[in-house]
Amino acid sequence: MEFNKELKDIKNYSAGKPIELVVREYGIKPKDVIKLASNENPYGSSPKAIEAVRAICNKMHLYPDDSMYELKDGLSKRFNIRDDEIIIGAGSDQILEFATRAKANDQTSVLMAKTTFAMYEIYAKGVGANILKTPSDTHKLDEFLKIYKSKEDISIIFLCLPNNPMGETIKKSEVYSFLKEIDKNTLVIIDGAYQEFATYKDKQMQIEPKDVIEKFENVLYLGTFSKAYGLGGMRVGYGIAKEEIIQNLMKLRPPFNITTLSLKAATEALKDDEFVKNSIENNFIQMRRYEEFAKSLEIEYIPSYTNFITFLLKDGKNSSEISNSLLKKGIIIRDLKSYGLNAIRITIGKKDENDSFFETFLKIYNVG
Ligand SMILES: *Cc1c(COP(=O)(O)O)cnc(C)c1O
Repeated sequence: MEFNKELKDIKNYSAGKPIELVVREYGIKPKDVIKLASNENPYGSSPKAIEAVRAICNKMHLYPDDSMYELKDGLSKRFNIRDDEIIIGAGSDQILEFATRAKANDQTSVLMAKTTFAMYEIYAKGVGANILKTPSDTHKLDEFLKIYKSKEDISIIFLCLPNNPMGETIKKSEVYSFLKEIDKNTLVIIDGAYQEFATYKDKQMQIEPKDVIEKFENVLYLGTFSKAYGLGGMRVGYGIAKEEIIQNLMKLRPPFNITTLSLKAATEALKDDEFVKNSIENNFIQMRRYEEFAKSLEIEYIPSYTNFITFLLKDGKNSSEISNSLLKKGIIIRDLKSYGLNAIRITIGKKDENDSFFETFLKIYNVG
């Protein structure tokens, strides 16, 4: 059978391995598997969200509220924006897909950092767009600008702030200077999947959705409930932009794209500031241990504004071998070989999970 030619050079997104796979393949008990691979919240979900979901299980036969009134109301109050400046997606991933289909095509190019969230490229290739990447692995806005100025056909610029899988981010002042140089017909997507972490660590890094879309009408800001809010399994994300952008993305949204239970979970999670704050505080307390650990082994790492840390390994060490050895011991992390890097990305876990990681990693690293 012939398929659309665009699909030919798309590489499947490789998600972090699930716990079930390690249980099946290595015969490790589920409770002994430690998953530090997908930047999920190790502290689980807000107890209030869990309770609220339980309470509406008898509503599963009804279609969800397709206006998503409750969740949009919560988001509009949180960010001080209007309902019509919000779109909800099955993960912010789905909004990336809408945006790419709405703006990019085989006559245009999209621009992104060399090493960034893999879905930007996958969605863009799906519509036949030409992919442009900066020379550096991390975000260097002067490199973005140089490429942008040299090309006429750039429809979308992807800024992942903070950047997955590298962990770096950029100061708001620099982002704003950059945005001033961009034509209003180019959509700039600011993927803020880890903004809660960056904002906690350093206020200078905070990109406020309301402020950025008011100053720059061509910006689409994305947020997610999958990371700090601890709802990765529920698939809820949001996009914030001026009404014109939102209206166009809404045309591509399938009806009922968010389930009743997911809408409820996100609505309640958004109210539980204490849960999110504790998660983020603990994240950075535990992050410091990873930094000390890396220093003690003279492993280079990128200062991280997220809930993961990326170790750049020395030549004689192999990221794939190390990841596989850890996997056999029941510890799942992310090998960055597929990004062309000899590096590993580790989600910051709970204290005891991190203890196990340090202990196991040391054994493997010192022999390998
Ligand atoms: C996790 C993540 C997302 C989206 O996650 P969803 O679960 O689809 O909301 C988007 N961008 C980046 C950079 C991420 O790491």
